[in-house]
Amino acid sequence: AEEVGGGDKEVVREYFNSTGFERWRKIYGETDEVNRVQKDIRLGHAKTVENTMLMLTEDRSLAGVTVCDAGCGTGLLSIPLAKEGAIVSASDISAAMVAEAEMKAKAQLPSENLPKFEVNDLESLTGKYDTVVCLDVLIHYPQNKADGMIAHLASLAEKRVILSFAPKTFYYDILKRIGELFPGPSKATRAYLHSEADVERALGKVGWKISKRGLTTTQFYFSRLIEAVPM
Ligand code: SAM
Repeated sequence: AEEVGGGDKEVVREYFNSTGFERWRKIYGETDEVNRVQKDIRLGHAKTVENTMLMLTEDRSLAGVTVCDAGCGTGLLSIPLAKEGAIVSASDISAAMVAEAEMKAKAQLPSENLPKFEVNDLESLTGKYDTVVCLDVLIHYPQNKADGMIAHLASLAEKRVILSFAPKTFYYDILKRIGELFPGPSKATRAYLHSEADVERALGKVGWKISKRGLTTTQFYFSRLIEAVPM
């Protein structure tokens, strides 16, 4: 049934508005209603967010800097960005995710610092931002779609692009361990891993080069973090 309507993107949208929303809302939340695997992923992801904030703030202040958080999920990055004074545009393909993110942001931020939230798939995003960030979204893109996705994100950025993705080096581990946390009838086939060289090549084709790298691995979470700047 999930295949009706066709296309990976529809499957992903449907998943993150239903069962995927419930699962990931818990993983990205604070409550104890998570199992051991989910808790481990929560911790790993928190490190990715922390490392992203470090990359973004180590050379300069974020005050007044425009940041696009593409595929913002429950707002775990958008909120700290806004706390640092960034002007945040946060979007996600899932309306449920955007609603959750907006609710969380309103509880933590003064109204003048609130990110601008929008339900949108990242290919439809327009505009120019100082920085574009897209964390843990590439896992939903097969390699033949990843290049276009990366090129589009880079086209929206003036100074920096930050991406995180599950690296292919951990292929076996990831699919075996967390395949069930991804959409589609055959869950494992719906999680796409990417080689760093492929991501680097995709960025290079549109004139961007990698300037910083990080890696977070826990037992069940593997994420390569890269910052790219214009060549
Ligand atoms: N970036 C957030 C974070 O790190 O906290 C959320 C990561 S979550 C694993 C993946 C998110 O990507 C989901 O909220 C999902 O709805 C969103 N997503 C997947 N495909 C998308 C697309 N084509 N455009 C926008 N968002 C997308």
